[in-house]
Amino acid sequence: MAIETSSCWSCGDMRAAHFCHACGKVQPPAPVDYFAFFGMPRKLNVDVASLEREFYELSRKLHPDLNARADKREQEWSLEQSSLLNDAYRTLKDPIKRTQYLLGLEGVELEEQSKSATEKARAAGEVKKQIVPPDLLEEVFELNIQLEEARMNKKMGEDDPALLRDLEGHKAAFEQKYEALSQELKGHWDEWDQAVDTENQQERRRALDGMVDLLNRRSYIRNLVRDVNEALGN
Ligand SMILES: [Zn+2]
Repeated sequence: MAIETSSCWSCGDMRAAHFCHACGKVQPPAPVDYFAFFGMPRKLNVDVASLEREFYELSRKLHPDLNARADKREQEWSLEQSSLLNDAYRTLKDPIKRTQYLLGLEGVELEEQSKSATEKARAAGEVKKQIVPPDLLEEVFELNIQLEEARMNKKMGEDDPALLRDLEGHKAAFEQKYEALSQELKGHWDEWDQAVDTENQQERRRALDGMVDLLNRRSYIRNLVRDVNEALGN
């Protein structure tokens, strides 16, 4: 990598990316993505244990306190590098954040289904438009009727234990689907990593599309579970 071949500002030695292997001085941050920060290829199957080791190792080398006596520039670089390190680690260690981050790097726009956007729509009394995943159509249709009933019951102060049990059942089923998505995501990671190795553009595209679809379904299900919880008064 280019950033590893430049030399140390302090001792002139050939340095490593973030600090100099010869003199240990922190180097100016290079404008790289989180994968490159850790010297990793842009792949999704990540050895989290070794990522963690690397994180702690770099944390020690880049820590601002270690450089308290260093000159002002190095102190600043140390702060910048440490914060970059923390952001990169937090993002890459989490399977969903890692996937979302990669999609962003690849220029994919995720459907705006963030928590804040959803809450804003709800506050405005609007139902946020979401495309119902085809495999959930039937269940969602039934669920919406029951949710409506539950809301009416609440308003009228009526009790319907059977309905609440039904809703609990739906919730459990959705939660199970939600969990199953992790396994499915892993399949898309494999597809992506392989396409990176073979430099197959079509396969890359297909893997990206699969991940976008999965993340949208995931957020859809999460919202359903939240709606059921509200209706159950949880
Ligand atoms: Zn050096």
